[in-house]
Formats: sequence, C-alpha cells, structure tokens
Amino acid sequence: DGGDGHVIMRPNAEGITEARRERARFRRARRRLDKLRDLPAVTRDGGDIQLQVNLELPAEVAGAIEAGAEGVGLLRTEFMFMNRETPPDAEEQYQTLVKLLAGTGDRPVTVRTLDIGGDKLSYSLDDEASDKGSPNPALGLRAIRFSLRHRDLLSAQLEAILRASAHGQIRVLLPMITTAGEVRRTRALMRRIATRLVRDGVAVGDPLPPLGAMVETPAAALSADRLVSECDFLSLGTNDLTMYTLAVDRGDDHVADLYDPLHPAVLRLIQFTREAGARADIPVNLCGEIAGDPRFTALLLGLGLTDLSMAAASLPAVKQRIRKLDLGRAQRLAEDAMREPDARRIAALIDEFNKTI
Ligand code: PEP
Ligand code: MG
Repeated sequence: DGGDGHVIMRPNAEGITEARRERARFRRARRRLDKLRDLPAVTRDGGDIQLQVNLELPAEVAGAIEAGAEGVGLLRTEFMFMNRETPPDAEEQYQTLVKLLAGTGDRPVTVRTLDIGGDKLSYSLDDEASDKGSPNPALGLRAIRFSLRHRDLLSAQLEAILRASAHGQIRVLLPMITTAGEVRRTRALMRRIATRLVRDGVAVGDPLPPLGAMVETPAAALSADRLVSECDFLSLGTNDLTMYTLAVDRGDDHVADLYDPLHPAVLRLIQFTREAGARADIPVNLCGEIAGDPRFTALLLGLGLTDLSMAAASLPAVKQRIRKLDLGRAQRLAEDAMREPDARRIAALIDEFNKTI
C-alpha cells in the first residue's frame, strides 16, 4: 500500500482479496478526483489558492499538467546530476530545461539550484571543498554552501537557467539558505553571467528571473524579515525546517516519532515567515510534504498560505479539500492551534476540525 507505506509479506488469500478491493476503491476515488482537474482551487468563501507541483524528473511533467498543476513550484535539479561520473555542462542542463518548459507551456517553473550533500546526492569531488568525510553532512557543506564553494558548478547551472529563462517563466530558488549574504553573492554571480551571455549575443530572460530563498533552516525563518530585502520570493521547505528546528534527522528511524511538523516551533516559524513575506510584499509558497497532505490544508490556509506546491499525485485531493473549506473557519482553527502547547494537541484539534468538513 503505497499510500500508507505498508508492505504485507506473504499475504494469504484473504489479504489478497482485501488488497484488490482496496485497489478498486482507490481507483474509484481517483476517477472522482480526476473530475476536479479543470475546476479552480477556491475555498467556499472565494479564497483563491495556487496549486503547483514538485518535480524530480522531466518525465513527470505530463502527469503534473494532467493533475491540473498551475506551475512547477519546485524543480529538484539533483536528477540531472545522478547516475553519472561527471556533472552535466551548461549546454546539457539548458537542453533539459528547455524540454521541460516545452511541457509546461506558459506556466511558471521554479528551478532550485543543486541541493547536494545532506541526505541527498553526494559527489565525489576530490578537493578540500567537498563534503566527503564531513562529520555531519546535514550541517556541513550542503546545497548553496556547496555551490558557492564550487563556482564552476554553480555558474554552469545559472547559465543554463538564464538561457532557459528566455523560453519561459522561470524563477531561481536557492536551497538551505542561512544568511542573506548567500543570496546576495548568488545574485551578483547571476548578474555577471547574464551580462556575459548578453554580450556574447545569447538570449536570456528580460527582466532576469526572480531569485528566491528556501526557508528550511531556523536561521532563515527567524531572519525572514531581513532576508526579504535580498529575495524576490520565499519558499518554505518544511521537510528540512522540521528536521533542523526539532534537531531530528528526517532519515533516522530511531527518532521518527519526534519528527512532527505540527510542533509549535515549526508552526511559529511558518507563521513568522509568511508574515514577513506579506509585509515585504513578496510571495511565500510552501513546498514541503505537508503541502500535499489534505490533513494539513485547513491549518496552512488558516495560517495565510495561498500558494502550495506538492507531488502531482497529491494535488487533486488537496484541491478537493480546499473547495470544501471556509477561509474564516480555517483562520480560527489556526488561531486555536497556535495557542496549544504541543503537536499532539494541535493534531487532535485539526483532526476534530477535519471531521466537520
Ligand atoms: C523541504 O526541505 O521541505 C524541501 C521541499 O526540500 P527537499 O525535500 O528537497 O529537501
Ligand atoms: Mg529541503
């Protein structure tokens, strides 16, 4: 059961019959959800919500559009770097992005620069600026930190993105930001590359693509009201934000029970970031796993989020939930949740609320 993440070893005849029944139920539910495809994601009281998808492979584009996505909220570019000895050059990355844009049409696409290290892809670069042997890769040379130490890799990626931005609505997203300086330095590099490309007669998007920061560390979230001065948008990565805030490794089964995005600390960081974005008048979206779980939808909308990005398979169920919700009630739920002392009580509150819709 991929939905629940359960594997039944050596099922008996009864188990197989039940699994088949479950599969039939799943397909019927899917067909009902498919009908929502062309309907807008609006609440009963007219709250307009943007639903986009997280993509890992270009092959997923067709399914995402099929599911009714309004854009790509997060393109994880790690896929371009996997299963190969050497990184792709700017030309190859550009070709991949252009192919992807052909599938997304005029919808916006947010391309995240390489999130290497941590629990993700690691590259065997034989130099001292590699995270090889890092005692704690999650706190080490990961993501933007790695990219800023490997300017050749980052420059190739930015060049590809800039050239692709001449063909579609692209935004650039930087992973694991902890300081405004990381955004500033990347923007300066992006501008230098753009100037060189234009001088060489290569088309780039005009204006240059918006540059945003992933808010997935407490440092970024707690300084979101400062970070906004360097960013054109923010994107809440609650998978890592939960891990770093709660000091719980997202890949460690021993502490899986402690990994809870409903912890008041995580919710406060989400709230603070959302408000900082609103005050600075820049968009804030949320692209962690909770965006794709209908159980969380009322709470997230109640916290003021209007832009969610998720796996394509989750989109129809989230849209269905949004269409049954009332923003005013969701806001009251969020207010009540923010007064609760712990994740368990917040979970109980949202489960109670969800039963009423
Ligand atoms: C996140 O951390 O919430 C996120 C969306 O990024 P990833 O899952 O790729 O680390
Ligand atoms: Mg992340």
